[in-house]
Amino acid sequence: MKYCFSALRSIGAGLRSNWVGRGLVGAIREAFGNRLGTSIPAGIAALLLLPLPSLAHHPMGGRLPITFAEGFLSGLGHPVIGLDHLAFVVALGLLAAVSAWGIRIPVVFVLAAMVGTGLHLAEVTLPLAELVIAGSVLGFGLLLALKDRPQSAVVAGLAAIAGLFHGFAYGEAIFGAQTMPLVAYLAGFTVIQIAIAIAAFFVGRQLTQRTNAVFVQRAGLVICGIGAAFLATTLLETVLPV
Ligand SMILES: [Zn+2]
Repeated sequence: MKYCFSALRSIGAGLRSNWVGRGLVGAIREAFGNRLGTSIPAGIAALLLLPLPSLAHHPMGGRLPITFAEGFLSGLGHPVIGLDHLAFVVALGLLAAVSAWGIRIPVVFVLAAMVGTGLHLAEVTLPLAELVIAGSVLGFGLLLALKDRPQSAVVAGLAAIAGLFHGFAYGEAIFGAQTMPLVAYLAGFTVIQIAIAIAAFFVGRQLTQRTNAVFVQRAGLVICGIGAAFLATTLLETVLPV
């Protein structure tokens, strides 16, 4: 949780402030215009402030949950501690706020995530999961940032594909566990993801219906920055394994 709060605080601070290396901000601002210039470096800076090894998304410190409560807490924790998952679910909720299908889009995602976890448990390997997950954060950030977004059915289709990969990654933390903690884990990550998506949905609806019509696009740019940073890190790890 501490992780999560500090992440959110950093993103908030990054959005507002000037402490994000002015030189880089200035250069990007010139190239892409003011808004893009602050948002993307802010997202990246927020990430750089956090030590985020990509597999450190396990509240139990890598130990398999044994009880129902442990499984549930582990499931609740994973999408929050994992900033890539968190950024994606927030993007999804905001996208739902400006899409005709509304909250059905995140529902498609969480259902697909359960299937993805099932695939992992069935020992089916989805290739390049980390890369696809990082790419999904960048991609959904871009969808949010766009003025003309694709139709809901297309967004839902992409959310389903992303869900399979995020779910596959969630499966990592529970692989080999007993049925009870396993079911609790599935319930935990489904509940928290829906809760986060609904919260983002309502914030998105409120703000876009009032004066702040560009809010969703700005948030999309921050999420792009987070996705880009994850993508770069994952690519580096693939090219130069430690
Ligand atoms: Zn994860």
